[in-house]
Amino acid sequence: MSKLGLYVHIPFCKQKCLYCDFSSYTGLEHLFVAYTTALCQQIAEQGGMLCKPVVDTVYIGGGTPSLLPAESMEQILRSLYSSFTIEDKAEISMEANPGTVTLTQLARLKTAGINRVSFGVQSFNNELLRRLGRIHTLYDSMTALEYAQAVGFNTISIDLMYGLPGQTLSGFAADLKQAAALPIQHISVYGLKLEEETPLALAYERGELELPDETEEEAMYDLMTSFLPAQGLFRYEISNFAFTGRECRHNLKYWRYQPYLGLGCAAHSFSHGQRISSTASVQEYISAIAGGRSPIVMRDILTPGQSMAEYIFLALRTTRGMVVCDFSQQFETDFFEHFGITCEKLENQSLIATDKKQVWLTEKGMKFGNIVFRSFLPD
Ligand code: SF4
Repeated sequence: MSKLGLYVHIPFCKQKCLYCDFSSYTGLEHLFVAYTTALCQQIAEQGGMLCKPVVDTVYIGGGTPSLLPAESMEQILRSLYSSFTIEDKAEISMEANPGTVTLTQLARLKTAGINRVSFGVQSFNNELLRRLGRIHTLYDSMTALEYAQAVGFNTISIDLMYGLPGQTLSGFAADLKQAAALPIQHISVYGLKLEEETPLALAYERGELELPDETEEEAMYDLMTSFLPAQGLFRYEISNFAFTGRECRHNLKYWRYQPYLGLGCAAHSFSHGQRISSTASVQEYISAIAGGRSPIVMRDILTPGQSMAEYIFLALRTTRGMVVCDFSQQFETDFFEHFGITCEKLENQSLIATDKKQVWLTEKGMKFGNIVFRSFLPD
C-alpha cells in the first residue's frame, strides 16, 4: 500500500512571468497571514478527518513559496507535522525562486523540516530572463544556490527552459554546461510553451516575438537528452534528470498513480480514480475555510477507460515505463488483452518498446509522446 503524498500550494508571486498561466497572483501580500491561517486550518481538518495518515512526501509548490515569510512557512510545517504522521525519512520539498531567498530564511526552513529545494533558475542568461519577465538575474541564481549549499539541503534541484525567445543552441549548451558544474543533484528541463492569453503568446500572435524554429528546438532537446546523462544526471522522466537516488519521490507518485492530497487554493488531490480540485481564488479559499465550507470546486470520477489511459500515460512518462503486472493488479485485467493491438501499432512505428513485462517509450516515443498518449485514450 503506497503512503500518502501531500501537495501544498502557495499562490503568491512577486511579479507575473510573461509565459505563466499557473494559479499564482501578485499584489496579495496583505493576504499572507490570512492564507497561512486558512491553510493551517485545512491541514488540521484534513489530517484529523483522515486519522493522521502516514506521509512520505510533501511538496510545497506555487506560485513562489519562498515569498512567504519564514515564520509563515514554519507555521505551515508545524501544522503538517502535528496533523499527519510524517515519516522520519520523508522527502519535504519546497519550490523557491532566486531573488526571493536569504541565507537566514533557508536555514530556518531547513530546521523546520524542508530537506529538498527546487529553484526556478530557467536560464543563466540575463537577457533571456528579462524577456521571460523573471525577477531574478544570474547573480541571484548563483547566490541562492550558494546559500542552499551552505545550509546543507539533502537535494538541490533547478529548473531550466529551452526554446526561449532569441535563445540559440550554443546559448542553451552554455546553460546546460553551467548547470552541470553546480552543486545540484536534480534538474528539470522544459521547453517553453505559449499558453493562451499570456503576454508572450499575445506578442507571438502580433508577430513581435521571435522563437527558435522547430529544427533548432529539436536540436536543443537532443542536446539536453545527450549532455545531462553524460554528466551522470540520468533521465528518469521526459523532463527530469537526477543523480541516482535523487529523483523527486513526490513527483514519482504522480507518474505511478499513487494517492496524494492537495492543500491550499488551486490544489489538486487524487485517490481511487477520483480527482478533486480546490477553488483557484485565494479570497474564496480563505472565506470558505473561515466559514466552515469546503473549498472544493471540482470532483472528477474517472471512468475505467479514462483511468487506464491515464495510468498508462503517466507511467510512460518515466524511463522505467509501465510495469505490466502492476497494471494488471491495479485494474484486475490483462494489459495486452486491452491494448495489444495499440502496442503493436506503436511498436511498428518505433514509438514504444516492450519485453512483455514492461512497456516503455523509445527515444522517438519520448519526443513524440503525444501521439503515443492519444493512442491509449478511450474512443
Ligand atoms: S515565478 Fe513561477 S508561478 Fe510565479 S509567475 Fe513566474 S512562472 Fe508563474
